Amino acid sequence: MSQHFLLSAKARTLSLAAVLRMSEEEAETAFVCIRWAETEGKPVCIHCECPTVYDARRPCGVLRFRCKACRKDFSVTSGTLFAHHKMPLRNYLAAIAIFCNEVKGKSALALSRDLDCQYKTAFVLAHKLREAMVAEMKGRI
Ligand SMILES: [Zn+2]
Repeated sequence: MSQHFLLSAKARTLSLAAVLRMSEEEAETAFVCIRWAETEGKPVCIHCECPTVYDARRPCGVLRFRCKACRKDFSVTSGTLFAHHKMPLRNYLAAIAIFCNEVKGKSALALSRDLDCQYKTAFVLAHKLREAMVAEMKGRI
């Protein structure tokens, strides 16, 4: 008798325990690897798709990339649902892990308690995650 997929190790790609053990730099690396999975984690310009991109981290420590061809700056979340984010990236990974691993759905109130943020923040974040899930499933059903 074979094991159900959800019980296998392949189903546990992003666990809350792993996210909570991450530093902010490790969370940035995880986001970069997820965002540019086609190029094996190597950033590509979001404006002109040039593969030559420099690390242009700000003096305050915020991660930014600069394209060699068009010289425009962008971040790992530019052009995504998490663009112009205010919380640390690790919180967004935790929100994804909490929200997606909850089988019967996660309320915004419970998410706000888990992330220690306001209800409205959790509400908007939950809707962004739902929107991303719909966009991922579009055309498959
Ligand atoms: Zn460019």
